[in-house]
Amino acid sequence: MTAPATLSRRQWLLTSGAALAGLALSSRFLNEEMRAQAATERLVTPGTARARLSLNENPFGPSPAALEAMQRYLAAGKASRYPFAELNELTNLLANKEGVSPDQIVLGVGSGEILDLAGLYFGLMKGEVIYANPGYLQLIRSAESAGGRAIGVPLNARQEHDLDAMAAKVGPATSVVYVANPHNPTGTAVEPEALKEFVRRVAEKTFVFVDEAYLDLADNYAGRTVAGMVNGRRNLLVARTFSKIYGLAGLRIGYGITSAAFAARLRTYGVGSLTGPGIAAALASLRDEGYVASTRAKILAERAQLLTLLRELGKRYAEPQTNFVFFQTGRPHREVYDRMLAEGVVIARPFPPMLDWVRLSIGLPEENALARAALRKVLG
Ligand code: PLP
Repeated sequence: MTAPATLSRRQWLLTSGAALAGLALSSRFLNEEMRAQAATERLVTPGTARARLSLNENPFGPSPAALEAMQRYLAAGKASRYPFAELNELTNLLANKEGVSPDQIVLGVGSGEILDLAGLYFGLMKGEVIYANPGYLQLIRSAESAGGRAIGVPLNARQEHDLDAMAAKVGPATSVVYVANPHNPTGTAVEPEALKEFVRRVAEKTFVFVDEAYLDLADNYAGRTVAGMVNGRRNLLVARTFSKIYGLAGLRIGYGITSAAFAARLRTYGVGSLTGPGIAAALASLRDEGYVASTRAKILAERAQLLTLLRELGKRYAEPQTNFVFFQTGRPHREVYDRMLAEGVVIARPFPPMLDWVRLSIGLPEENALARAALRKVLG
């Protein structure tokens, strides 16, 4: 599939009404998780539910060092200055962490911005966008808004990406293949070697976009990430976010790791306008060495209690590598949603075609206890 001719951001906005619609959508809802969830949660007045376990946030919040860094930034009177130096510092630190050069890092207002921009870029090719269904649809919807055609490939029996089936769909009309690893909504991760082989093979033919939003929560992060495969490849982008393990969803910081050429191309479509305090928080989070391991341990301990309950209730679940669990209730989603809400717990929206499964995010210990008591009542 040929790439669209490079357009300046201005030309592009002027010529693509569909692209404008895509941008309007993302600016109202921040990311796809919020956009899609809003339709289901329309009756929930903010603050009325006791546990909102529907958006896969990190309940334990950011590193104390990140909060301190933001306060220091503001106390130093820097709010009136453009954060040039800080932006470079963050880009360099990320490049160093990922083993790439700074021109291979694209910053985004959340990784949602990277998904949106890449989706629009590939959508403008008017080709096919291959993804696992059900899945996280931000890139997919963005591509569709610009004229791309979405090809959903069913998950395998373990509710993982069926990489062979996805590879088999790749043809001359394919613009991009999107893999979220771990996946949303199922929480499953694909076998590390199978994914690497998939990237080696498929990136020869088309562009591969691997979304690692939840990868810090998985076991064997180092063995699973494909960021190291970006060097020497034109056709691969790996997306990351500070919204999940780093607990900074409200600050909107994400990034992509890709070839310098593709990074430059994406930068003509969006500028990744991060804020000074946000950058300060991201820098401090990356430098807080114990933070990822200790936060992950807290989330996994809570998740283990939920899995124990599901086994006790005889409910099947997808093997989670994330801060959420996808499980089969055997009941219509709407019924489970309403009954859980009556107990004070908001669960995630339905994920067709798996309409007797539900997704529940891990919250604070007291929220999880409430959710477990509610599940016993609703499913027991
Ligand atoms: N990718 C996946 C798979 C997600 O589930 C999410 C959010 O829930 C994101 C990306 C985007 O998150 P953000 O825009 O906050 O970085």
